[in-house]
Amino acid sequence: MKTERVELLPIFDDNYVFVLINDDLSSAIVVDPGESSAAEEFLMEHGLKLTGILLTHHHADHIGGALELKNRFSCPVYAPLKNKSQIPFADHYLQEGDAVDLPPFSFQALELPGHTLGHIAYWDEKHKWLFSGDVIFGLGCGRLFEGSYDEAYASLQRIKALPPETLIYCTHEYTERNLQFCRILSADDNTPILGNAEILDTYALDLHNKRSARRPSVPLSLAMETETNPFLMARDVEQFRYLRELRNRQ
Ligand SMILES: [Zn+2]
Repeated sequence: MKTERVELLPIFDDNYVFVLINDDLSSAIVVDPGESSAAEEFLMEHGLKLTGILLTHHHADHIGGALELKNRFSCPVYAPLKNKSQIPFADHYLQEGDAVDLPPFSFQALELPGHTLGHIAYWDEKHKWLFSGDVIFGLGCGRLFEGSYDEAYASLQRIKALPPETLIYCTHEYTERNLQFCRILSADDNTPILGNAEILDTYALDLHNKRSARRPSVPLSLAMETETNPFLMARDVEQFRYLRELRNRQ
């Protein structure tokens, strides 16, 4: 068993709560608990002490269980500074570059606006883990509820610039739905951005194997997304906008 690992707890229809576990210390961190019971049961069952709760943005399906977990386990909550009014119960508000130290884990906050204006991701450089909320999904990206196309495009480009071995822990299991969109794009002469159909086939086979065994498609491999995710591959903001608007109509 690895000393430090991530457990995925499915909640609601297609959300994941991430539990970062340190087996040596019997401690854990929870990311984006949309509700509290799944994490609480998991922590109790495995005798883990909760040392922190990380929140990426203010949407209810990401923060709904945070206050209950905080009260139950008396641990600090970290949230984006720009969401202070929506998440008043947090203990630490983070901006670009701020560090979160919860030994043996440490993270850097990356501001990635687009889905929401205050959205942050948590970057664990040691493990090359990115907890990215609703910024990017398997073969897709988050809807733009608050930010501009420029902001969302720049946020995806920042993710693309991380080391290729990065594992992306996005909060929703949308990959199969997004694969269908990619298949439509492949047949669309106006979007010749999916250059290599073979890579998408490899992705699709791996996805099929995971999902038919009821396993998550998350974490995503950044190296793989870079070659298959149309929103990461868009050559400029205009193409990104075209793709996002097309996806919104699906
Ligand atoms: Zn959201």
